[in-house]
Amino acid sequence: MDKFEEMMQKMQKMSAAERKAMLDSVKPKCTCPECPTYNDCMKGKEELLFCATGKTGCSPAKKACICPTCPVTPMMGLKNMHYCIRGSEQELRKM
Ligand code: SF4
Ligand code: SF4
Repeated sequence: MDKFEEMMQKMQKMSAAERKAMLDSVKPKCTCPECPTYNDCMKGKEELLFCATGKTGCSPAKKACICPTCPVTPMMGLKNMHYCIRGSEQELRKM
C-alpha cells in the first residue's frame, strides 16, 4: 500500500467533520493560484485542492501544472497532475 492509499484509509475512518477539518487545514498549502492554468473563474470561486475535490466547472485552458512542486504532493503521496481538468487523485486511480 502506498502513501496515498494509507491516507485514504485514514480518511475513511474519519467523521465527515474530521475530513472537512483535515482538508481545510491542507487548503492554504495549495499552490494552484500560482499556476498558469488557474483562471479568473477559478480564482473568483476561490477553488483550490482539485487533487482532492476533482474537476473544476471553470473550463480552464490546459497550460502547465505545478502540482508536482506543491507541498501537498509529497504530503499526500500524489502521483498525478492537472487535477482541475482530469479529476481527483482518487478518480484518476479509479479507487
Ligand atoms: S497538488 Fe495541485 S491541486 Fe493539490 S493542493 Fe497542490 S497545487 Fe493544489
Ligand atoms: S490542478 Fe494543476 S493544472 Fe490545475 S490549477 Fe492546480 S496546479 Fe494548475
